[in-house]
Amino acid sequence: MSVKISKYPGVGLKEEDIKGKKVLTTVWPCNLKYSWSAGVAVGRFLTELKNGKIIGRVCKKCGRILIPPRMYCEWCWKPTDEWVYVKDTGTINTYAITHLATDGVTRLKEPMPIAVIQLDVPAKLPRFFAGFLHYLGEVKPEDVKFGMKVKAVWKPPEERIGSITDIKYFKPV
Ligand SMILES: [Zn+2]
Repeated sequence: MSVKISKYPGVGLKEEDIKGKKVLTTVWPCNLKYSWSAGVAVGRFLTELKNGKIIGRVCKKCGRILIPPRMYCEWCWKPTDEWVYVKDTGTINTYAITHLATDGVTRLKEPMPIAVIQLDVPAKLPRFFAGFLHYLGEVKPEDVKFGMKVKAVWKPPEERIGSITDIKYFKPV
């Protein structure tokens, strides 16, 4: 049996009903938590960071090492070919000095340098690949230079959680 509704008793809410507190309202602080799979490539990348290693994927067609790794090369429209460990040393390709925290609003007490670092790769591998973005430390912002050699400063193994922040920052060498 189905019931066909032909009359709609009552009246719809209006903006002034809410503003005038004619209806019950509640304030609900939203505190939702999410979890999701990092996937094959980034999952392995994060696990390797926990072990103190940086791993990427090689695309043999364009000669890039993708870091963080991807299973698919968006330049060549094909799957990447193999895993490769790279060193935790490299060269500053470019950098910026930020005065804002990661929320984009809060002003930092001390400005912080952030760099794109060309990580060192074994000589037999392609030389050209995407840079690795990370904080710089143990250096004054005014002393950062293009082409500066840097090395990762890792958290102690017992403090690593499989996160990009397992590397605290890169420091000049
Ligand atoms: Zn490619």
